[in-house]
Amino acid sequence: MTDFGRSHFFGGSPLNRLSWLRNSPVFLTLALESPRTKWVIFNDGKPLLTVPAPTSSATYSRTVSLPKPRTKPALTLLPTAAVLPLLGPAPYFAQGQNQGSVIPADLITTEHNGKGKFLESARIHGPTIVFLGTLESHDDSWLDRPASDYSKALETPESIIGDPYFALDVTGTDPEVLKDVLKQEIEGYGGVREEFGDALRVGLTLDPVEVAIFSEGRTMIDWNSRMKFCPSCGSKIYSLWGGWKLSCSSLLPWADNSGKKPCPTARGLHNVMHPRTDAVVAMAVLDETGEKILLGRNKRSRLPPGFYSTLSGFLEPSESFEEAVAREIWEESGIHVTDVRYHSCQPWPFPANLMIGCFAIADSSQKIRTDLDNELEDVRWFTRDEATHTSSRCSRVVIHMISNASGPGKKDPPSQGTSTREDTAQTHPNSKSDHSSSNKDRAVTLRVPGKQIIGGVLIEKWAHRQLDELGYAFALGRPQV
Ligand SMILES: [Zn+2]
Repeated sequence: MTDFGRSHFFGGSPLNRLSWLRNSPVFLTLALESPRTKWVIFNDGKPLLTVPAPTSSATYSRTVSLPKPRTKPALTLLPTAAVLPLLGPAPYFAQGQNQGSVIPADLITTEHNGKGKFLESARIHGPTIVFLGTLESHDDSWLDRPASDYSKALETPESIIGDPYFALDVTGTDPEVLKDVLKQEIEGYGGVREEFGDALRVGLTLDPVEVAIFSEGRTMIDWNSRMKFCPSCGSKIYSLWGGWKLSCSSLLPWADNSGKKPCPTARGLHNVMHPRTDAVVAMAVLDETGEKILLGRNKRSRLPPGFYSTLSGFLEPSESFEEAVAREIWEESGIHVTDVRYHSCQPWPFPANLMIGCFAIADSSQKIRTDLDNELEDVRWFTRDEATHTSSRCSRVVIHMISNASGPGKKDPPSQGTSTREDTAQTHPNSKSDHSSSNKDRAVTLRVPGKQIIGGVLIEKWAHRQLDELGYAFALGRPQV
């Protein structure tokens, strides 16, 4: 797995995406036909899983190449031979006007008055296919091959380096055909069943390699499935580049555009649609000493008692990371921050986000208010006394919660020790009297996101004092200026 030191769950895919080869139908077709090829199947956004039966010793899919035995669902990886009935007729790429036809060579070679780029690996018929990349061993190397002259270097499926991975959307497939394919695939492999599982729930429980492949596939299948018509002229759209670009069908050489104005996407740099990624800033706000953290509880989510997380919000057009962090924190909590610093980011395939993790500094004596955008049920400062975490989905950090009801200008009280009652809910039984009379902090167990979620990672970094690399004065032992 790729690891740049700050790789997160859903990221760190081991696949070589080979993006410069996607425009070649020769490459994509050979990759599809490779005996080593593996398919990740999605139905209405749900991934196909191989689920061991409770009593099974997990002798399951012949195509799953992950450590065994396992007792939890695994991503089902089918060979091309198994999914052929689901793909529609060949050719699978460089498809012509009618199903089963090929784009005439002269249209490509002459670029059809500059429109050849609208035909690159075109897939106009059949279900959505996305080329995800190849999984290569240490001995595999594309560096031994010509980078661009692949048409000569790649003559057979065996000449493809590594295991090609594709994603396939079977949402519109005849259920009987799909049922038959899955039945044949698992025949003879007792003790397992194949099912389409809830993407978010399953995604958080897959192992890191599977989940990174799942993440890429789900985001790309989702994008392809949502985009059906050209946003400029309303014509149908079709797939290019192995599912990585979409184009307006009015640009096809055989399109009948009589009576229509030319599609605006025919000109300039906006002639294809690229996969969407929506950036979200997720930020841990610390006080000047680095000892307190500002966390919020969302109003709309059905969260377990005591569950708080970092604040977050969508990056808006013409806004920097730092500006988005400052705006979102103020809108959600009324707190003004300074000194925003980037930490790391996480792909989030529900459906297509990039979570940008940042830290920021604020004066904790500022008044907290949630009535500006009314997104959060509660926002509070928490102070660190002792922090622990587990590998469970909801790690538990034992810290002291300080009431934010003390109003502006009041200094928070000192810590009074640590609660170890992990089953404690949002407030301590004594919190009422503490809250109303002496403004003492209340010992509680707080639930925060696990390490699968970047907010949980940021909180953990803070809890374990692992912020030196950000250069904050408090982390380096200097007074905060
Ligand atoms: Zn159009």
